[in-house]
Amino acid sequence: MGIEQRFERVADEVAEVCRAAGRNPGEVRIVAVSKTVGPEAVRQAVTGGAHDFGENRPDSLMEKAALYPDETWHFIGNIQSRRIPAIVGSATLIHSLYEERHARKIDEAAAAAGKVQDVLLEVNVSGEASKSGLAPDDVAKLLDVCGQLSHVRVRGLMTMAPRGERCAAHDAFEGLARLQAVLRSGMRADRAAVFDGLSMGMSEDWREAVRAGATIVRIGRAIFDDAFEDVPF
Ligand SMILES: *Cc1c(COP(=O)(O)O)cnc(C)c1O
Repeated sequence: MGIEQRFERVADEVAEVCRAAGRNPGEVRIVAVSKTVGPEAVRQAVTGGAHDFGENRPDSLMEKAALYPDETWHFIGNIQSRRIPAIVGSATLIHSLYEERHARKIDEAAAAAGKVQDVLLEVNVSGEASKSGLAPDDVAKLLDVCGQLSHVRVRGLMTMAPRGERCAAHDAFEGLARLQAVLRSGMRADRAAVFDGLSMGMSEDWREAVRAGATIVRIGRAIFDDAFEDVPF
């Protein structure tokens, strides 16, 4: 099976899991994580129907976004201050903001580029020491900071679940969805209206994430790696 077919199969399955969970398939966006593949693989995914792509390095983000400007590009990697203008120049949505100093730099870079940058706040729901992101209790504070920045718009939350553990993944996704609901209920109406994103779920655990309310799943290997073995939760 080629990339084109693998994307189509993932898209069909996402729709199926949505319907089984009583959700509208149109509510879930599939970000094809192309960080391990080159431009030709991106082209094949586009042919299969992919229009959102995720990259974790600013250079590959810039390169591929320039080659495929009609697609939507997402930055899902670790943010480094000095690369923020490059990221802001190419990314429609930044999934991985969790530091105040980066929020301020994104605001500056977006102002210079004449755009409002959409971001998600990354949350370390499971509390694993190896994972980056905000502790759940610290999210409100960064939301307040971002609320003061006129070129940053917070569109929701993102998390990475512990790998290979069904229960832990389930708890992390449910935890993120609950946190979003609580924060949203305390927001001004105009902010709440756009705080609608939940980016969670990868090749191994996206089904669990969709059931918990994900609006964005980030899928790499299940689309781009023909050796990926799908062992659904
Ligand atoms: C690599 C990556 C993914 C995709 O992971 P797969 O297991 O290949 O689906 C999703 N999100 C982030 C943040 C990543 O770095």
